[in-house]
Order: sequence, then C-alpha cells, then structure tokens
Amino acid sequence: MSDGTSGQLIILSGPSGAGKSTVVRRLLAECDLPLKLSVSATTRGPRPGELEGQQYFFMSNEEFQRCREAGEFLECKEVFGLGHWYGTLREQVTTGLKARDWVILEIDVQGALAVMEDKSLKAITLFIHPGGMEELEQRLRTRGTESEEVISARLETALSEMQYMHRYQYEVINGSVDHAVGEICQILKDQKEQHPCSKS
Ligand code: 5GP
Repeated sequence: MSDGTSGQLIILSGPSGAGKSTVVRRLLAECDLPLKLSVSATTRGPRPGELEGQQYFFMSNEEFQRCREAGEFLECKEVFGLGHWYGTLREQVTTGLKARDWVILEIDVQGALAVMEDKSLKAITLFIHPGGMEELEQRLRTRGTESEEVISARLETALSEMQYMHRYQYEVINGSVDHAVGEICQILKDQKEQHPCSKS
C-alpha cells in the first residue's frame, strides 16, 4: 500500500462487459481522491467518441510491437485472440506514482495477474463483474459496438476469467453503477486512512 512517499497503484479488472470503463470514468469524476487513469495503448481502432490519449493511445501493430521490443510496457497482451493488443505503458504508471497520484489500471484479467506477479508493485486489486453470465452477455449486446464473433470470443474469455476472482483483494458486483462507484471509492478511502500521509 502507499507509504505516502509515492502514489498508490490500483488494479481494476474483470471480464469485458463488466462495466469497468463506466465505473472508472465515474470514479475519476466523483471520488475525492487523487485518482489518475493510466491510459493504455491498443491496436484496436477508436470507437465513436473515443479520443487519442484519453481512452487509449491508438497504435498500429508495428508501432505497438516496436514499443513492446523497447520494453515500454509494464504488461501487454493480445486480448481475445482476435489480434488486438493492449498494453500498460510504464511511463504512465511511473509518472503518476512519482506525482503521488493513485494510478488506476483498468485492464483485463491476464494483464492484472501479470502486474500482481511483480511484487515491487503493491497494488490494491479489485475484481468487478456484473453478477452472472447472462447479465454480462446482455451488456455486451446492448453496447452494440461489437460483432457476433467478438461477443462470442469475449463471453468465452469471461467465463475463464471469472475463475481468477479469488486472486484479488476485493470483489465488486456492478449491479448498479452508482453503488459500485460508491463501494470502490469507500474501499480506497479506507486504505487512505491507514496511510494518512499520502497526497490529498
Ligand atoms: P475495450 O476494447 O473494450 O476498450 O477493452 C477490452 C479489454 O481490454 C477490457 O477488458 C480492458 O480492460 C482491457 N484492457 C484495456 N487496456 C489494457 C491494458 O493495457 N492491458 C491489458 N492487459 N488489458 C487492457
């Protein structure tokens, strides 16, 4: 946990369709802590409304692999086996932690497990999921941004990802976004109280 001389790393993870990005957006806006999102790199194209450097740094495959070879990723994964790469940029994390921010990694389960392996990074780890597979499927479908092929691949991945929930410190069921945001904010504030010297 944070010792007050650097920031705090937070891993918010869970299956795709669990509502992680909505929860993170609301947390950044509403939770009274020095939260900062680590913006990942991806080779997938932007969805409508997504902007370079805000949701992601959008990269070509070549650019991504160059960054990968240069060791610029803390972790990176080809997510869903459909050829899209996602990676946490080291620079995003180190800059945020040096500024004593509470840096949120909103990443998939494989990426989260890789970061947890690094014992020098003492993260608060939260697993967020919608409660059941039917809810998950419904969310992926109502989002309406993915093809049937992508939805099936994501559901299959989600099933296996649920098995790693026990590796996280906290389980949050995202039944209602308001509730999930309130719960996560409170968990983080409780951690801060144990470390009152961190940035406020
Ligand atoms: P989406 O394409 O819906 O934005 O994200 C797909 C999945 O990739 C989500 O589960 C998201 O959390 C995950 N993801 C986003 N950024 C990263 C990253 O840097 N590393 C890993 N491992 N997963 C990521």
